[in-house]
Amino acid sequence: MPKLEAIIGLEVHAQMNTKTKMFCGCDNDAFQKEANTTVCPICMGHPGTLPVPNAEAILKAISASLAIGCHINPQSHFDRKHYFYPDLPAGYQISQYDFPLASKGCVTYQMEGEEKTCDITRLHMENDAGKLSHAGAVTLCDYNRAGTPLVEIVTEPDLRSAEEAVAFVEELRRILIAVGASDADMFKGMMRFDASISLREKGSKTLNPRSEIKNLNSFRALERALTFEEQRLRDLWTESGGPLKGNITVGWMDDEGRTRMLRDKENADDYRYFPEPDIPPMSFSKEMVEKIRASLPELPSKLKEKYLAFGLSPAEALMLVEQAALRDRFDALAKKGDAKRAASLVLTQLQGFLKAEGKDIADAPSTEHLLELTAAVDEGTISANAAKDVLEKMVKTGKSATEIIEAEGMKQISDTGALDTLVDKAIAANPKAIESYKSGKIAALGAIVGWVMKETKGQANPAIVNEILMKKIS
Ligand SMILES: [Zn+2]
Repeated sequence: MPKLEAIIGLEVHAQMNTKTKMFCGCDNDAFQKEANTTVCPICMGHPGTLPVPNAEAILKAISASLAIGCHINPQSHFDRKHYFYPDLPAGYQISQYDFPLASKGCVTYQMEGEEKTCDITRLHMENDAGKLSHAGAVTLCDYNRAGTPLVEIVTEPDLRSAEEAVAFVEELRRILIAVGASDADMFKGMMRFDASISLREKGSKTLNPRSEIKNLNSFRALERALTFEEQRLRDLWTESGGPLKGNITVGWMDDEGRTRMLRDKENADDYRYFPEPDIPPMSFSKEMVEKIRASLPELPSKLKEKYLAFGLSPAEALMLVEQAALRDRFDALAKKGDAKRAASLVLTQLQGFLKAEGKDIADAPSTEHLLELTAAVDEGTISANAAKDVLEKMVKTGKSATEIIEAEGMKQISDTGALDTLVDKAIAANPKAIESYKSGKIAALGAIVGWVMKETKGQANPAIVNEILMKKIS
């Protein structure tokens, strides 16, 4: 039995987060809206209507293309892709066939700390279909999603395992979110995958016929389906002594954990592509493309490097890359001083308290409130220990640090006069500790400081207590 390797390529569909749909003015946010309420004659494919391309969608698609290293083709156009299905009211999808928006990119991603790359064949724009729900003997059609702008990103067959495919799409998702092209919310089905897999003998350069797995809508489904299909193809190879005889299309049955044959692969001619006659070709000048490139934000891989350089762990760095709201807070705190403290405050304490309260980052204390809290520690108003309690109360009540410190009487006692008296009392109350100290046990002084802390319910400034104590006994 030869040593086999899996050759995997992906088609990734991501819904763009534009205000309106791809070719009409309908609301593009169909989430939790009543079925068939965000539709119009254009996205319902009525005769006599004309599609008008959404400029916002095109700009977002260009941003996404540049962020994955593609070049924008100076000329591109839309095509009609014909097929009959009840979720497609026009009877064709408006897509891009031989002249896509962008070509030839590359995405660098990390898997288990190792840097890998996947080449991108193309990125093109198209509109989404509606949604069918099968309820017993009837099928319900909801066209709210029909016409939602999509980017389709097609990769070269550069991936070698299900795990690599997932690590790659996770990075791709971060990029699409970073450039503002898509919310890529997996729960809302905003990112979907078709995966092609074939096997070949290790070292060979041949691309054998492949199995295309349709309609994977989560990272988990992608990973499970590819793992299953790879094993199935390996078993077939053992039985038949070679790869598939021709391309096939299969569907992933999530409940059953297996793929099922759908059809022999259709060819491009089956779709009877032809240029969309109602939309003129598009051309993009170098100046326009460069202007968009210059406006791109820092990409996730660069951001991650930046946070690693702060001394954060890869997991912490990734948390900041993936959550803009956390990142804004962290950046503001880190700017004021040490990044370690910012990480502990934002990534450990704040996240922990939010989780305990069942609250989202949207309900977290604002950056201003967090800065107020660290300022209170730096000015000696409260101890670092008390700051943790204050933060917890900030999360619970939504009040500012100052309000809580005032209301709860949490101000640290730094008044030397008051502390001086307390240290005298502590010495009088702990003669044994003083004796031990005098016989050389320096640690015995902890009991004295502890007594003062207890007496003040933790509000004494321990540094000042120590200072006074040392003066008194030396
Ligand atoms: Zn519409």
